[in-house]
Amino acid sequence: MDLREHVRGIPDFPKPGILFYDISTLLRHGPAWRTAMARLAALIAPYRPDLLAGIESRGFLVAAPLALELGLGFVMLRKPRKLPGLTLGLNYALEYGTDRIEMQADAVQPGQRVILLDDLLATGGTMAAGIALLRQAGAEVPAAAALIELTFLGGRQRLDVPFESLLAYE
Ligand code: IMP
Repeated sequence: MDLREHVRGIPDFPKPGILFYDISTLLRHGPAWRTAMARLAALIAPYRPDLLAGIESRGFLVAAPLALELGLGFVMLRKPRKLPGLTLGLNYALEYGTDRIEMQADAVQPGQRVILLDDLLATGGTMAAGIALLRQAGAEVPAAAALIELTFLGGRQRLDVPFESLLAYE
């Protein structure tokens, strides 16, 4: 099955000049969605994760079903002030301004192998911040992965872990 047929590019979203890769069409096609999750599970299983983490919000849609598929637990990396209890947070730079992600301080046991997932890797800034936050919580991060990678933005070069993706756009 060619999963590319189930991802569409929407021009000028969220602002003029940006081509947005929309996974809604993949999500709403049962067999394509199942195939995508099975293929991504096969790519990340060799890294022997103990836990999977996802970045809010589309990263949750990837990490949670993969965790079920692999029989693993799932941890949320969320936008600020969404998580109850003691949290750890990290600010990171965007093209314009800054953003912040948070996780629960007790989400990971020291030394646990946690793979971080998102829907798409663009510049890699979000993924790099998530990896740094997981390490702050005591995790080992053997790899990161996403459904889609925009190779022309060089995101994987910003990561210091192996990176896996199902679809690359140049
Ligand atoms: P980065 O930090 O530049 O790598 O941007 C990646 C983050 O922005 C991810 O959390 C994505 O969900 C989101 N993102 C950036 N571009 C797109 C796109 O074309 N489609 C869907 N999500 C995108």
